[in-house]
Amino acid sequence: MPVLPKIRIFGWRPGQGAVPVGYKVKAAGLGDGTCKLCGSHIETILHAMRDCSSVQEVLITSGMDSLLPQGPFRDYFEWLEASHSVMSSE
Ligand SMILES: [Zn+2]
Repeated sequence: MPVLPKIRIFGWRPGQGAVPVGYKVKAAGLGDGTCKLCGSHIETILHAMRDCSSVQEVLITSGMDSLLPQGPFRDYFEWLEASHSVMSSE
C-alpha cells in the first residue's frame, strides 16, 4: 500500500518514542503526565493517538473510528500493526 512520506513519519515517530507525551515528560521531571487535551488520563502514545476523548471526536467526525481496530492492545505498535492490516485488506 503506497503511503505518503509524511504519513509514514507520523506513524514512525510515536513508535520510536520521539513524541513528548505526558508520561515521558513526567519521567523527565517536567509536568504531571496528564493529557493536556482531556485532562483525565496519563498521556501515553496510544492515548494520544487513539484513546483520548478529543482524538475520538476527530476520528468519529472523519469516519476513521469505524475503520480502526478497537480491541485491547498492549502498545502503540500492536495497534498500528492491526490498523495497517485492516486498511491493507480494503
Ligand atoms: Zn486525553
